[in-house]
Amino acid sequence: MDFLRPTTWQEALAARAERPGALPLQGGTDVMVEINFDVRRPEALLDLTGVAELREWSVTGGVCRLGAGVTYATVIDELGGALPGLAQASRTVGSPQIRNRGTVGGNLGAASPAGDSHPPLLAAGAAVEVESRERGLRTIPAHAFYLGVKRPALEPDELIRAVRIPVAAGPQYFSKVGTRNAMVIAVCSFALALHPEERRVGTGIGSAAPTPLRALEAEDFLSRELDWDAALDLDWDAALDAGLLRRFGELCAAAAAPIDDVRGTAAYRRHAVAVMARRTLTWAWDDHRGRRAA
Ligand SMILES: Cc1cc2nc3c(=O)[nH]c(=O)nc-3n(C[C@H](O)[C@H](O)[C@H](O)COP(=O)(O)OP(=O)(O)OC[C@H]3O[C@@H](n4cnc5c(N)ncnc54)[C@H](O)[C@@H]3O)c2cc1C
Repeated sequence: MDFLRPTTWQEALAARAERPGALPLQGGTDVMVEINFDVRRPEALLDLTGVAELREWSVTGGVCRLGAGVTYATVIDELGGALPGLAQASRTVGSPQIRNRGTVGGNLGAASPAGDSHPPLLAAGAAVEVESRERGLRTIPAHAFYLGVKRPALEPDELIRAVRIPVAAGPQYFSKVGTRNAMVIAVCSFALALHPEERRVGTGIGSAAPTPLRALEAEDFLSRELDWDAALDLDWDAALDAGLLRRFGELCAAAAAPIDDVRGTAAYRRHAVAVMARRTLTWAWDDHRGRRAA
């Protein structure tokens, strides 16, 4: 097996164009497992860890640009304030060793419906930068990036360069159901982001459909029904109405399209999505109301 190790982004794009059979490798926490279990036997590996720019992140104009090689550990250590939903999800990934090697770019490349970064990226309204040597750069909204089970919207000559994520302008939460607390693939997961200035709600559902997805009807319902102004009035008890919470949970569960598998039944997943939707909304709304005193 050939091992290609570019040291610049241009060299990486050239290698991708010239060797379409070479499998990109970032942290290797998915790729090496697949090779060890003989799920894949690529003719070559295209190791991207020598491309320094992929490990960088920056914030400009309210948007965080996260290089494809930024690890979960970096997101947790450095971006908890700017990207709280993604940082919470990152804390649930694998173990310290996996979080030190594994990357958000690798999670996107694998495009597993159970990948933990996807729900917060969807809820925040992220977009993925992908590039090829021949056709240049294109930016794909996260909701259009997942085409099917483990099928990202990448052409054979493209690489993921970065993901652009709006810096949180309101509370964000991530919730994950697993059979234990660490080293576990999600039975299902849910992310919520409030965008108070736009009077808008974002959602992301994981591991409860062939792809990660947003609950669009639930987002519309909540954006319309939440009493955004009263929440900021100190004299008003703007606690969430029980009927609104219930309806939001129902609409999120209805958006899911889960299956029965070894990790859980479809019925359980639907139920859990509704519970997580209600919980994350309660936490986020409490935070939003808490801000009025600040
Ligand atoms: C023990 C263990 C526990 C785990 N726990 C979790 C968990 O809790 N939650 C979770 O979501 N995942 C988990 N994973 C899976 C894995 O760690 C994540 O999916 C991780 O984000 C992969 O990142 P990576 O950098 O290691 O990717 P890699 O393994 O290097 O690559 C993953 C895929 O993305 C492609 N790829 C990588 N970089 C690029 C690029 N720049 N452009 C195009 N394609 C690219 C690769 O070709 C490959 O198909 C676990 C894995 C292990 C082994």
